[in-house]
Amino acid sequence: PGLNRRVLSIQSHVVHGYVGNKSAAFPLQVLGFEVDAINSVQLSNHTGYRSIKGQVLQEKELAELFEGLEANNLLQCYTHLLTGYTGSASFLSRISNIVSKLREINPQLIYVCDPVMGDNGKMYVPEDLLPIYREKIIPLADIITPNQYEVELLTERKISNESDVWSAVQWFHDRGIDTVVISSSELGEENELRAFLSKKNDKRYILNIPRQGNGISFTGTGDLFASLFLAHSHGTNNLGSTLEKTIASLQAVIKRTLDSMPAEVLSGKRKVTAQECELKLIQSKNVIENPEVVLKAIEV
Ligand code: ATP
Ligand code: PLP
Ligand code: MG
Ligand code: MG
Repeated sequence: PGLNRRVLSIQSHVVHGYVGNKSAAFPLQVLGFEVDAINSVQLSNHTGYRSIKGQVLQEKELAELFEGLEANNLLQCYTHLLTGYTGSASFLSRISNIVSKLREINPQLIYVCDPVMGDNGKMYVPEDLLPIYREKIIPLADIITPNQYEVELLTERKISNESDVWSAVQWFHDRGIDTVVISSSELGEENELRAFLSKKNDKRYILNIPRQGNGISFTGTGDLFASLFLAHSHGTNNLGSTLEKTIASLQAVIKRTLDSMPAEVLSGKRKVTAQECELKLIQSKNVIENPEVVLKAIEV
């Protein structure tokens, strides 16, 4: 893989904890990528806490930061663009201008889009983001990492079985996306998550993930998934192995996070707090550098 690997990452920043850029930057850096972060919001903590305070970057301010980079000829160096949570349609529209500009400068630019809109049947961004993703963003992305619900929103069809998955995946390929990864779905056995991967006109994989943590839900894992997938996909055509390494590190981070929880939480005597669920990312540096593949991707 090339020596020059620099990601422009447009995601949330939280002061405490690990979502958005806080979840994505460290693993990318550990894996040898320069990370230039634009913080789409700066919040005290993620939305799962009792209260939340902070600022939202306006679309005009995003354009200003980008102009500053351009004025200093700093746009030349990007090999990757990564985008995640975006709270407004105008901000997302501005991102589409940014992709076009970066692509003009570097036609090889890889755009990894995590279309964060919701989970488990609930949208947590305004509905007017959906047409912007559909019409402006998706035609520009190389790799997309939606969860099952986000696939259903974008393609306007319900996913109930594997054949629904592959036809939804084709919907993305038809719009020009080379690699579609569904980071998680409810299609596995009980107590299992199932991920899907498809490369346009090429191989398809599924990977089954035993659910960890007895119903505890983690935040920042989707953002971590996208960053790890970006890093491991660089310079390889073996996407099955990319998915395996991504999941290997993720599962190890989750395990380390669970292992750090107090006994009364693990035994179910007390509910886990949002803070106790924060990913033990820094403590997982070794499993990020050297993922040990246990769960295998199955070519289908
Ligand atoms: P996004 O919202 O960013 O689009 P998402 O909803 O798919 O992503 P998650 O549901 O957190 O995000 O899933 C991302 C990955 O995190 C999964 O592929 C899985 O490897 C891992 N993961 C999350 N929760 C668990 C869990 N309880 N047990 C095992 N793996 C988990
Ligand atoms: N950004 C912010 C500010 C959030 O509050 C969250 C989730 O609560 C996320 C991003 C995304 O987290 P995940 O990676 O679990 O999808
Ligand atoms: Mg999810
Ligand atoms: Mg998410």
